[in-house]
Amino acid sequence: MAERKGRIFIVTGIPGVGKTTVLDASLEAARASGSDEVLLVNYGTVMFEEAKSKGLVENRDQMRNLPSEVQREVQRLAAEKIAGMAKNKIVIVDTHMLIKTPEGFLPGIPIWVAEALCPNLFILVEAFPEEIAGRRSRDAARNRDLESVKDIDLHQQLCRSAAIACAEITGSTVKIIMNHDGKAEEAAAETVKLFKAFKR
Ligand code: ATP
Ligand code: MG
Repeated sequence: MAERKGRIFIVTGIPGVGKTTVLDASLEAARASGSDEVLLVNYGTVMFEEAKSKGLVENRDQMRNLPSEVQREVQRLAAEKIAGMAKNKIVIVDTHMLIKTPEGFLPGIPIWVAEALCPNLFILVEAFPEEIAGRRSRDAARNRDLESVKDIDLHQQLCRSAAIACAEITGSTVKIIMNHDGKAEEAAAETVKLFKAFKR
């Protein structure tokens, strides 16, 4: 059976739903209330650092177009690195349940990553598909893929299935947090409450 490495919370949601926005606000709130033992890790950043150091990519948006077997190897290296960070910190991992590649949906948390991280909790950050489409089109900071509202909806539904499949392996719970337009602070407050609910 997969073993807990410490307190690890995996926060997922489809690109542009607002994970990083909600987590930055959550961390600010957690630190304001005196919790300085929380470490926020972006899985994609750890993967990107691994891939860049190997000369595979130059920017983040090239990551999802790497051959899936290369993505899997980079994914595994990142999981080992992150599990090591949970020895003396609460680790919050900002990541994706599924990555949309030209070859189909690639699990962001395949069995070996789920086992390596063995998180206490999986959080799914969600919003209405129309809200996500709007955020993507307005987000000038990133080079985002265009996806129809119907495809966004399907992607989000499949992430729910993937979350439950992961939780079956690790014995973790799954929680959905809604991040509606203009409500990132509310989503952050709900997220902080969850982190505090897991003492050990
Ligand atoms: P990725 O998976 O690509 O890293 P993400 O889920 O981390 O995406 P963010 O980068 O946090 O998404 O947010 C995407 C865009 O949506 C940003 O421009 C952000 O300002 C905006 N956004 C996030 N949450 C909300 C919200 N509740 N209301 C309105 N806009 C939001
Ligand atoms: Mg992000």
